[in-house]
Amino acid sequence: MQRKEFGLGDVVQMKKGHPCGTNAWKVIRMGMDIRMKCTGCDHSVLLPRTRFEQRLKKVLISAKKVESQE
Ligand SMILES: [Zn+2]
Repeated sequence: MQRKEFGLGDVVQMKKGHPCGTNAWKVIRMGMDIRMKCTGCDHSVLLPRTRFEQRLKKVLISAKKVESQE
């Protein structure tokens, strides 16, 4: 299983887009919960980390291009 890498400030694509028609979310808070903001309408959503990882499709723009070798 491939681990999804994401970090603060990344723009990510989710399995399901926002009803406004945009499917690009910016990660604005990391922690137990992840807060992400729709880049289309600025609506922000708070998701538990596990939920976020399940819904994450891919990282569109990586804010920090650091590859961790774990
Ligand atoms: Zn939106």
